[in-house]
Amino acid sequence: AKEAGRNNFQFYTPAMNAKTLKRLELENNLRRALERDEFVVYYQPQVEIQSGKIIGMEALVRWQHPHLGMIFPGEFIPVAEDTGLIVSIGERVLRSACAQNKSWQDAGFPPLRVSVNLSARQFQQQNLVKHVAQILRETGLDPRWLELEITESLAMKDVEFTGKNLFELRKMGITIAIDDFGTGYSSLSYLKRLPIDTIKIDRSFIRDITSDPDNASIVSTIIVLAHNLKMKVIAEGVETEEQLSFLRQQQCDGMQGYLFSGPLLAKDLEGLLAVAKVL
Ligand code: C2E
Ligand code: CA
Ligand code: CA
Ligand code: CA
Repeated sequence: AKEAGRNNFQFYTPAMNAKTLKRLELENNLRRALERDEFVVYYQPQVEIQSGKIIGMEALVRWQHPHLGMIFPGEFIPVAEDTGLIVSIGERVLRSACAQNKSWQDAGFPPLRVSVNLSARQFQQQNLVKHVAQILRETGLDPRWLELEITESLAMKDVEFTGKNLFELRKMGITIAIDDFGTGYSSLSYLKRLPIDTIKIDRSFIRDITSDPDNASIVSTIIVLAHNLKMKVIAEGVETEEQLSFLRQQQCDGMQGYLFSGPLLAKDLEGLLAVAKVL
């Protein structure tokens, strides 16, 4: 049966070709989308749990396709990463997010931090730090209102190189968050070697904190660990009041999730920003 299974590989070849074709098509479409400026940045508010105030927002990209409508990042980020197009897309997102944040500040809204996701490919660019500095200069955003989110696996990949970049970014006044914390199967040693300000606990741990005691203790332990290391903690994917009250009890600093709001267009977030106290 094992041998037959192996020979069955041929059976998958046409499907794989179809998949390759689809990727090629997607790659071409992504290039065109860049030319036509079809990427739109949505903003999901982050709320301080103690005060109920909005403390920041995460920039999340969507592809507004002229015929297919809105396409979510899960469908194109992996291909954008493989092809390197993520570098241009990511740059667009970073510039938009900084410009938008500056324009909110200029309009008199209380200043908030905007978090932007950085992919490994972007991080490998030799001139990343210069590039970020240039975007900040161009948009006029004070670096303290920018946070960059990197994943654990990226942080761990090459701690020397990553560390050098992160320390330079930090020196400019930018803050650094570790995204999807707990999903990277990595050693925790990077936490003390890298300049990290915020830990974002992955949604998969938050999902059943109220029903799964193991997840509950993982989450409360991450919070204590982060606080001992002088880092802030944001819980991702908070959807219920029960989850929020558990997080409040554990003194989690911030939360992001549908319970408060999903990602919004900039103009729709303005309505929320106008309200000082929200919870
Ligand atoms: P992420 O960075 O972990 O972003 C959080 C994702 O969780 C977002 O999905 C957000 O819409 C979703 N989310 C927020 N609150 C809730 C909730 O309460 N429940 C549930 N079920 N989901 C919630 P989205 O926008 O589809 O983005 C997916 C991923 O795509 C992101 O995960 C991030 O890894 C990537 N991504 C998005 N924008 C960018 C970008 O500009 N650059 C890069 N490199 N990656 C991006
Ligand atoms: Ca993120
Ligand atoms: Ca995340
Ligand atoms: Ca994620």
